[in-house]
Amino acid sequence: MKATRQHIKEHNTTLVLQTIYQNTDISRAEIARYTGLTRTTVSDIVASLIDDGLVVEVGQGEPSGGKPPIQISLVPDARQILCLDLSSDNLFGTVVNLRGQILHRQYLPLDGRIGQAAMEQVCRLVDLLAGAATASSLGIGIGTPGLVDSTRGIVHQAVNRGWVDLPMRDLVAQHFSGPVYVTNDSQAAALGEHTYGSQRQASNLVVIKVGEGIGSGIVLDGQLFPGDGFSAGEIGHLMVEYDGLPCTCGNYGCLETVLGKRALLAKAQAKARQHPNSLLAQQSGGGQLSMEHLHQAYLLGDPLANELIVQAGAYLGAAIANLIGILNVRNIVISGYPEKFGDTLLQAAMAEARKRVLPAMAVETHLSLSTLGEVDVVLGASALVLREELGLP
Ligand SMILES: [Zn+2]
Repeated sequence: MKATRQHIKEHNTTLVLQTIYQNTDISRAEIARYTGLTRTTVSDIVASLIDDGLVVEVGQGEPSGGKPPIQISLVPDARQILCLDLSSDNLFGTVVNLRGQILHRQYLPLDGRIGQAAMEQVCRLVDLLAGAATASSLGIGIGTPGLVDSTRGIVHQAVNRGWVDLPMRDLVAQHFSGPVYVTNDSQAAALGEHTYGSQRQASNLVVIKVGEGIGSGIVLDGQLFPGDGFSAGEIGHLMVEYDGLPCTCGNYGCLETVLGKRALLAKAQAKARQHPNSLLAQQSGGGQLSMEHLHQAYLLGDPLANELIVQAGAYLGAAIANLIGILNVRNIVISGYPEKFGDTLLQAAMAEARKRVLPAMAVETHLSLSTLGEVDVVLGASALVLREELGLP
């Protein structure tokens, strides 16, 4: 029996597959006990899952008197998921298995491409990933910057990519067979952290992604909260400075203009120019400062670099205070460049957040850095495909 998507989605099959997924090895009798299904039903479903190659019999378990039971286990590489993270100018793709293990990594620079040319590069990346996969594909998952209608796979607006109402899902599906899922990159990161990161037990979670842009993804009761217009957590364009700098969105003083990677490096560049003998200025040898230069100066204990990081942390803290105040979520994970600056940035963020919310709420807040690093978006995209196609985890 071929496992079509409808078949897999059937409640009992999903229940059995979930039970096998959550246990390393498990017998048919234990599956029946956990799920409340009859042994016959379980045996039928397991037989069909074995036919599909999704699970396998793996020797025998502990005998409990009588014949030792045969154990059933998931085959992690039975299907592979092609995952894309479009948040950086260097597009990033991975092939991921059913257990969230990264089997292959691929980068493809945009080299300034925007609009249709950028979209063609996305398809090229899918092509490279499809070529690298060693098992049949379960689907394609994409985390992209911008406002994304994830039910229809449309990118309504991604300013830096030049995409307006781009039907990304359908464009990718024209070239590749199998289901395609598209979601916002920060929301994908939140799903990644919640499924594979250090906050797996948290039912509520906010993940703030700080890079060229700033966004957050919100998980409530174990489910991604997209908002009415798919833009919940879009904090990058909240105004934080009344007489601030102009922003790409047309407004002034947005969080992105003070905390975004470009904004931070511009400030660092200005500081380096004012203090040509500083460690910070020496890192770039008078040239353009990169995040690596700033990181090096910070590691060497340069006070200017430290000051910049503390200031960035304070802006982040202001954003965190807003999120805590509105959602009362205790677990907040920060991903992106702040990972390089560890406790200095986190402590500054927490100190600022504490000034801005009720003390009791601040005490409950647990702020941490992402443990997944650069793979948070792709793992989230894989989790989306896994959930929609197989009902896992
Ligand atoms: Zn803005």
